[in-house]
Amino acid sequence: MKSVTKGMSRRKFIETGAGCATAVTACAILGSRLAAAGGHLPKLDPDSTQAKTFKYVHASTTDGQWCSNCQLFQGGAKEWGECAIFPGKEVAAKGWCTAWVKKTT
Ligand code: SF4
Repeated sequence: MKSVTKGMSRRKFIETGAGCATAVTACAILGSRLAAAGGHLPKLDPDSTQAKTFKYVHASTTDGQWCSNCQLFQGGAKEWGECAIFPGKEVAAKGWCTAWVKKTT
């Protein structure tokens, strides 16, 4: 802790931390409100590092597995929806990635 706060007052450290937490919370709220209002988040780019990490594709080639039947898909019956693995982006209902988990509810 001492190295983090070196040259920074306790008050400034707390203010900076609170500011960062507020910004993160505001982005999360904005994203969910945008989705709830029928707005669309940007589509996940399959060529992005984030997508490649999980080998995400817009069109699944894995039998019986696609985003719309994955537990982490939050798009309901829509063609595109949010996914817990890729916050702030939408994935294709027909997409797939290595984090696929069978929908149980
Ligand atoms: Fe699709 Fe993968 Fe997200 Fe499941 S975890 S909804 S398969 S992108």
